[in-house]
Amino acid sequence: MALVDPSVPSPRAGAEMESASGRSHLGANAPPLIEMRGIERVYQMGDNVVRALAGVDLTIERGASIAIMGTSGSGKSTMMNILGCLDQPTKGSYFLDGRDVSRLSRAELAAVRGRMIGFVFQSFNLLSRTTAFENVEMPLLYQGLSASVRRKRANEALARVGLQNRGDHTPNQLSGGQQQRVAIARALVCEAPIIMADEPTGNLDTKTSYEVMAILQGLVAQGITVVLVTHEHDIAAYARRVVTLRDGLMVDDRTQTPVIAGGNMAADAAAATAAAGAHP
Ligand code: ADP
Ligand code: MG
Repeated sequence: MALVDPSVPSPRAGAEMESASGRSHLGANAPPLIEMRGIERVYQMGDNVVRALAGVDLTIERGASIAIMGTSGSGKSTMMNILGCLDQPTKGSYFLDGRDVSRLSRAELAAVRGRMIGFVFQSFNLLSRTTAFENVEMPLLYQGLSASVRRKRANEALARVGLQNRGDHTPNQLSGGQQQRVAIARALVCEAPIIMADEPTGNLDTKTSYEVMAILQGLVAQGITVVLVTHEHDIAAYARRVVTLRDGLMVDDRTQTPVIAGGNMAADAAAATAAAGAHP
């Protein structure tokens, strides 16, 4: 249940941008990037009460690659919405980058979200009559940047997902995988330290899913924290850590050696990233 449209980031001051890496101002004793304690989320539907999250503790370190798994209805999207500051817990505490965000106002939440998190959705959520470049540039329009800075940043973000030559294409001129890569570029363009993706491969075929996972793995290699929701074991295999929800409770938490998304796509994306001089 999104309180607001997360594809439209909030306005934020340019001065805040330098801290957006989430690391620069933090020393060795930095708190975990994400720390949730006793998180509950109850939905009231008339007389019906649904306990979508029933008391979850979760700590995520900077640079993590984590998949949240579980069957339909287990609470994954509810969890992602709270993690992404799109929704707030009924009970419990959530510290994001050391700051308690569990009781912020909507405006404060929007500001935190804009600075800290880029979102990727199952259905891409691109504007259909708008080019790839314009879709990626969109979050920057609220930041008071000059057109030339916006162009540079949007083109860099497109290059990071290997689409430097597709900026003038509209979504219907792109494959599903390419559309999702545009959405990832849009999530990257604000240089937030965290990417959150809810079933990002849910509308893609197997091969294209692996391409998207290659991109996300590339981002982890560059220090971005990637939180992924999926119900597919094949997709969770690309993450270093897999937590499993059942009936709103975390029933499993394991680390693993991730499958490496191979193929030309990963190499292409890495080369494009290097060529664009991308950071962090
Ligand atoms: P998942 O993403 O794992 O499929 P969700 O987090 O969407 O699970 O849902 C968890 C539970 O909460 C389900 O029982 C679902 O029906 C319920 N739920 C989710 N969103 C709402 C809502 N906005 N209002 C009422 N119940 C909801
Ligand atoms: Mg869901």
